[in-house]
This record gives sequence, C-alpha cells and structure tokens, in this order.
Amino acid sequence: MIAANKNNARQQMLADIRQSVRESAHYTGRQDLSEKVMNAMGKVPREAFVLPEYQHLAYQNTPLAIAAGQTISQPLIVALMTDLLDPDTDDVILEVGTGSGYQAAILAELVHSVYSVEIIEELADSAAAALGRLGYENVQVRAGDGYAGWPEHAPYDGVIVTAAAPHIPQPLLDQLKPGGKLVIPVGEERGLQELLLLQVGENGDIAQRSVLPVRFVPLTGDH
Ligand code: SAM
Repeated sequence: MIAANKNNARQQMLADIRQSVRESAHYTGRQDLSEKVMNAMGKVPREAFVLPEYQHLAYQNTPLAIAAGQTISQPLIVALMTDLLDPDTDDVILEVGTGSGYQAAILAELVHSVYSVEIIEELADSAAAALGRLGYENVQVRAGDGYAGWPEHAPYDGVIVTAAAPHIPQPLLDQLKPGGKLVIPVGEERGLQELLLLQVGENGDIAQRSVLPVRFVPLTGDH
C-alpha cells in the first residue's frame, strides 16, 4: 500500500467506525467516541499487525485471522473498548490477549505504559517485534496466562481483556487501583457473550454494566 492510499484507507476506516458506533448507540448509549481515541485509531498503521495475505483488508472494519488460529479484533471493537477505559496520559494499563499487538499500540498512543500478556508464545514474540519496529517503547509484552494478570506492575488504572472469559477473573479485579476500570467480554465460547465495563469504587465496591453483545475467541488457560 502506498502512503496516500494508506491514509485514505485509514480515514475510511474511521468513517466506518463512526457509523457503526452510531448504529450500536441503542446498546452502548454512545453516539460517538472521544476524539483522542479516534486520533489514536487514525495514527496506528493496522497493516503492520496484519498477515501479508490480508494487507489489502487491513483497513476494513472487520476482524482478521492472524497466526496460531487467533484474530486481530474489529477496529470498531478496539476503539470502543479503548473508549470505555477512558484512559489518561499518565495511566498504566494491563492488556490480556496481546494477539497481533494492535490494541496495545492504540493504548500506547494514549497512556504512559502498557503491559500486555499473551498465552501463545509465537504471538507474544511477533507482537513484541511489530511494536518494537514501530518504536513503541512504552509497551511490554510477556508470554503467559493473563488470567493471573501481571502482579509485578500492578495496580493498574485499567485492564482490558480481549478474549471471552467464562467469568470475571478475580486477580484482574484485585490488580486495579481504586477508581480503575476493567473492560472484558464474558460468556460462552461460540455462545452468548457480552462486553462488560466494571469500575472499582474508592471503597472497594464494584459497579458493572453490560455494553454490547460481542463474539470473541475464548480465554484459554487453567482457570
Ligand atoms: N488484542 C488483540 C489484537 O489487537 O490483535 C486481539 C487478540 S485476540 C481477539 C485474543 C487473544 O487472546 C489471542 O491472541 C489469544 O491467544 C489470547 N489469549 C487467550 N487466552 C489467554 C490467556 N489466558 N492469557 C493471555 N492471552 C490469552
């Protein structure tokens, strides 16, 4: 893809995301996403996280297959999940499910540091390499089971899980700061799943709301 085409394709992707956000507003309650999130979506070269055979589809608003039978999420979902976290520039964020590294790159544009855990070593390695090539020095990727979080860098301002869990992992709630947010798809593999937004209150109470029905690959591991 030459530079002007890439830029046009990315602008079209932003327009498609805006339209999809409006179409799903009856679920999410949002007519549009924040400008800072849309700016980050407009900056990150998605083609750098997509397999060579799907380069021509890099800016379609769809999920795509990556290595190891996994997927890079739909741009709409990446944007919406990031917007739900409502990250600040000095935030420290944990991602569970690095996959291609694309979501981590979007977060890296917006926050101080991103820690991302991926259970498939091959993907952790390729995502770290792609993020390194693009110069994202504020992202660290580790191979491992993200159900347990990454306690060494906790507490986090936000945690984002990009694979569907059968239930809310307690270790991830435990690693949030007071006021911190968890964005996570919960539900059955190939069944009903809902994207949840949880927020820990200053006194430890948890507010939870369902945002949207979704379809994610399952959170694997021993939990
Ligand atoms: N965020 C990714 C991106 O931007 O490309 C999308 C990831 S894909 C939808 C979900 C990822 O979660 C897969 O790469 C999968 O291997 C990973 N995963 C599944 N279970 C996991 C676990 N227990 N710990 C860490 N990663 C896990």
